[in-house]
Amino acid sequence: MLISGGDPFLLSDERLSHILEALRAIPHVQIIRIGTRTPAFLPMRVTEDLARMLRRFAPLYVVTHFNHVREIAPASERACGLLADHGIPLENQTVLLRGINSEARVLKALFEKLLTIRVRPYYLHQLDLSQGIEHFRTPLSCGVDILRALRGHTSGLAIPQLAVDLPMGFGKVTLSPDFTLRTTDAGTFFTNWQGKECPLPYPEPSETDCSCPHS
Ligand SMILES: *Cc1c(COP(=O)(O)O)cnc(C)c1O
Repeated sequence: MLISGGDPFLLSDERLSHILEALRAIPHVQIIRIGTRTPAFLPMRVTEDLARMLRRFAPLYVVTHFNHVREIAPASERACGLLADHGIPLENQTVLLRGINSEARVLKALFEKLLTIRVRPYYLHQLDLSQGIEHFRTPLSCGVDILRALRGHTSGLAIPQLAVDLPMGFGKVTLSPDFTLRTTDAGTFFTNWQGKECPLPYPEPSETDCSCPHS
C-alpha cells in the first residue's frame, strides 16, 4: 500500500496514524510505503514522535525524493538518520531533470551521499509527460548513458533503476545499459566498465537446464 500525495508527512501525526491504523486493519495489506519530500524541503517535520509512531506500523518503508546533493542539508541527514534509527528502511527516488542533475558526475555525488545517510537510491525517473515542464525533459538515452557511466565507478548500491512511467496507465518499465557486444558460437562477448572486451563462454550442454530440480 503506497501512500503518496501531496505529501503524507504534511498531515499531523494523529491523522497519519489513524490512516495507518485503518490500513493495518486490512488483512491483505503487507507492506506500507510512504512517499515524502519532507526530508528535502521540511526536514524538521521528521521528529522523534513521528519516527516512533511510524515504527509501530512495520514493515513500513519511507521513500524520499532528493534530486540533487545540494538538497541534502545537515537537517536532512538528521531526519533520515532518525527514521533509520527507528528501523525504518529508506529508499530514494530522483527525477532526471535536464540541466539540474542530467550528468553522471552530479548524480554520482547525490547517490553516494544518499548511501552515507542510510538512504538507498531506488528509482531514477524519466520525467513524466506533463504540461509546463518540457524544458526539464531529457532524451531516453541520457539516463541510460548515466547508468553506464556509473557502473564500475561506484558501488552497485549507489545505482538505482531507471524507470519510465508509460502514458495512459500502461505502467512502469525499466531501462538499463547493455554491456553485451555480440554473441558467437563461442559465447557472448561483453564490454566492461573500462571498455575492455571479455568473452563469457557458453555453458556446457549439461549445465543449460536452468530449472530448479526440486521445484
Ligand atoms: C511507480 C508507481 C508505483 C510504485 O511502483 P513500484 O515499482 O512498486 O515502486 C505505484 N503507482 C504508480 C502510479 C507508480 O507510478
